[in-house]
Amino acid sequence: MTASIDPDCLFCKIVAAKLPSDRLYEDDELLAFKDISPQAPFHGLIVPKLHFSTLNELEDEHAALVGRMFLTAKALAAEHGLPGYRVVVNTNREGGQVVFHVHMHVLGGRQMKGGLG
Ligand code: AMP
Ligand code: ZN
Repeated sequence: MTASIDPDCLFCKIVAAKLPSDRLYEDDELLAFKDISPQAPFHGLIVPKLHFSTLNELEDEHAALVGRMFLTAKALAAEHGLPGYRVVVNTNREGGQVVFHVHMHVLGGRQMKGGLG
């Protein structure tokens, strides 16, 4: 399947600046912006600019893209002075995913709690 843009997708609209966001980082492939309902003092979201519904749509050919999402999380944490942080990718409803455009949460700015589930 060729990735493109879904005109009905919330995060595709944010990428296209059809909806506002508080942008943290942008390059040709990725956009990072602040989560509208932060769960920690720092809560960013990193999304590919192309539309993939879930992590399950990403294949070997996207390995570099996935790697750059992690490296962007690291860079955001450094830029925002986070000594530690948590990276989360909720996948499908059973995994807690609500917005079906793959995204990486980056949470920090306080002590993360033990429970993940
Ligand atoms: P998930 O449950 O992993 O799908 O997370 C979706 C995230 O998107 C939630 O943390 C929401 O607070 C966040 N979110 C929803 N709408 C917006 C928006 N317009 N701008 C920024 N973040 C949003
Ligand atoms: Zn999308």
